[in-house]
Amino acid sequence: MDEMRPTGAGPSRRGGRRAPALRFAAAALALALSGAPAAAGPAAPEPVSSIAVRLEQQKDRARLVFETTAEVKPSVFPVADPYRIVVDLPEMAFRLDPEVGRPAKDKRGGDDLVTSFRFGHFAPGRSRIVIDLARPAKILRAESDSKLGSPRLVVELEPTDAASFAAEAARLAPTVSAAPAAEPPAPAADAKPLLVIDPGHGGVDVGAAGPHGEQEKTIVLEFARALKGKLEADGKLRVLLTRNEDAFMALDERVRVARQAGAELFLSIHADTLGETSVEGATVYTVSARASDSEAAKIAEKENFADRAAGLERKSEDAGEVGDILYDLTRRETRAYSHVFARTLIAYWQTVGHLNKNPSRSAGFVVLKAFDIPSVLLELGYLSSARDLSRMLSPEWRERAAEATAQAIERYFDERREPAQLQASAPSQAVATTQRPQ
Ligand SMILES: [Zn+2]
Repeated sequence: MDEMRPTGAGPSRRGGRRAPALRFAAAALALALSGAPAAAGPAAPEPVSSIAVRLEQQKDRARLVFETTAEVKPSVFPVADPYRIVVDLPEMAFRLDPEVGRPAKDKRGGDDLVTSFRFGHFAPGRSRIVIDLARPAKILRAESDSKLGSPRLVVELEPTDAASFAAEAARLAPTVSAAPAAEPPAPAADAKPLLVIDPGHGGVDVGAAGPHGEQEKTIVLEFARALKGKLEADGKLRVLLTRNEDAFMALDERVRVARQAGAELFLSIHADTLGETSVEGATVYTVSARASDSEAAKIAEKENFADRAAGLERKSEDAGEVGDILYDLTRRETRAYSHVFARTLIAYWQTVGHLNKNPSRSAGFVVLKAFDIPSVLLELGYLSSARDLSRMLSPEWRERAAEATAQAIERYFDERREPAQLQASAPSQAVATTQRPQ
């Protein structure tokens, strides 16, 4: 099932009507072609690049065209809940404006079949395009050819009914999923404690976006790297990142990697958006079955959507409650330590300022559900807040915030070494008196 040419496909568009009413929803980019690989010599072949993309929509038809540097073999299938079309490809370098594909700001295209699309790394050697639909669609055409002179990947869709969509989804469901990440090295004997830092999103899952195409996946990775650098310089802990590049990783895979590596603390880093631009500041989340408030519930819902943003099917977001007393005891202790660390982290972040007015919250984050690893999710700020955004893009701010986070982590592990102690730690006086910026 490489190339999907669904049976009974609609009329071929090749050489068909030119459809003057087609709306240009995304501009083809005039990127300099100098970077395009083409003939790269006998060394390892460079991945095919996508150098421009456009989305054309009219009432009963949508066509997404990627201009590429070579033909590729797409594998296309629908996924429901919500309605999406997934296009799997060999590794592709998307030399495209990151803003392209985002939902249109104006709502004039209310009839449009395609609401948005995204693209990026999915698994080693594999890339993916995910097309979000307003309603069920049928794949009329999904192919790559050079018939118009230069290589193009064309995906053409038309509306269909829910039952047909579900039948196609079942028929074309891929047999391979994202490959699990490489096994982390086994911990050495008498090793220092291991912290796993989890930069949210990555690859085809871009996470939240700022008003000028700033991407959550990039901001959180930069922060995670800065934090790792500080902790390694101090030398008290071992640090592992769940991802250290712009790569997709499923939520439960992040937890699995942490457990496999023997993590003693798991810190997930994010930066979401909210509809309200006035809400700002960092928030520290722990897991709970019931969200602490409606904003926390909204954030958890968006963060838990990450896998589906990458085209995966909805999974049970249940923690897999096992009626086992040892499990319950472990989980209770884990959650108590998660709270201790969350409070310590908030105390240290007070020294760098700009916490959310309610910085301690909880909700049902999938990525925090390891029953045996204290886990906390830090939202650095909101991309929807101009002030938060400018802070998060500032290298100076990142250094300060990563330093405060590193100190909180080290303090937490220091306290854990002392038996029978289970309370949050405040930063030392010297740190606490640091000037609060802005
Ligand atoms: Zn996120």
